Amino acid sequence: MSKRIHNFNAGPAALPLPVLEEIQAELLDFKGSGMSILEVSHRSKWFDDVINEAVEMTKNLLNLGEDFHVLFIQGGASLQFCMIPMNLSLEGKPLDFIDTGTWSTKAIKEAKIQGKDVRVIASSEDKGFSYIPKDFKVDEDAAYLHFTSNNTIKGTQWAKFPESGNVPLFCDMSSDIMSRPFDAKPFGLIYAGAQKNIGPAGTAMVIIRKDMLERVPDNIPTMLKYTTFSEKNSMFNTPACLVIYTTNLVLKWLQENIGGLEEMEKVNKEKAALIYDFIDQSDFYHGTAAKDSRSLMNVTFRLPNEDLEKRFVAQALEEGLGGLKGHRSVGGCRASIYNATDIWAVKDLVAFMAEFEKKEG
Ligand SMILES: *Cc1c(COP(=O)(O)O)cnc(C)c1O
Repeated sequence: MSKRIHNFNAGPAALPLPVLEEIQAELLDFKGSGMSILEVSHRSKWFDDVINEAVEMTKNLLNLGEDFHVLFIQGGASLQFCMIPMNLSLEGKPLDFIDTGTWSTKAIKEAKIQGKDVRVIASSEDKGFSYIPKDFKVDEDAAYLHFTSNNTIKGTQWAKFPESGNVPLFCDMSSDIMSRPFDAKPFGLIYAGAQKNIGPAGTAMVIIRKDMLERVPDNIPTMLKYTTFSEKNSMFNTPACLVIYTTNLVLKWLQENIGGLEEMEKVNKEKAALIYDFIDQSDFYHGTAAKDSRSLMNVTFRLPNEDLEKRFVAQALEEGLGGLKGHRSVGGCRASIYNATDIWAVKDLVAFMAEFEKKEG
């Protein structure tokens, strides 16, 4: 038996053990088909049941009702940066963005490439994207307001989403979708690369309010149109079958083993508090995000110098704690504690941090 480590990777990231075990158990014979899920046709009843269940689970967990389509589109969250302005702009109306770092910045860039009237109504660039902007005015004129709910790299997160009046909110929730309940009503579109919190890499989940589809212009390529996916239940062409199958299992685990998003949020808060409380009482570690903007998903911190950070990451791995290196663009350390990372992993991490400080501090 190989030994599994505590996985703090930012993405692709940890999956729940019961989900991996279920995949293993039914790999050779999926539901009596005599084939693995890797081998069945996406036009079969077997796969149809899988994708329909994944859509239903998503609607139930997020309380979406019938106003929304749930789509699976390959190309990751990054393709959405481009598809959104292409599909959902409105003639004569600006596209508003809040810039909280890397991913928002990339979304802004893709809209500008298309020559759109882009307005950045708020940004935290002045302090290295270490906080979530608070004071800004939303213009009722905009076609939409785009923001990123959780900055995976800097470890900042919107505790409360921006209020935008009649302007639909568009949100990149790649690194915190399904981590907490929220009211979907103000949202026109929500998207997330699956590989952070809901599954493996290979597809983005796109939740789109039905009235948004009226904005989709005719003259864009078929595979870049939201309507192509909404009209064919994400199966105009072959979808990322294994990703959708795994995502469905993760969502079922979330509902059945955890008890839904309220319960998940409680656990996520408890996990994050363990690390932040430890960091706050230490002179050795310090958190890099403003306290009121701290992420429950990605805890970013520094040690007194880079040499210590290197040793910290290496020794942690020897102790079975993997993935603690910060994003290559910012350095430092980062513990990604998505839904699938359990509280015992976090307790072991905090114990290791204490021990390392005692030895090296
Ligand atoms: C990882 C990440 C992305 C990029 O996702 P891809 O699926 O690799 O394109 C975008 N936004 C956020 C918030 C992310 O964390």
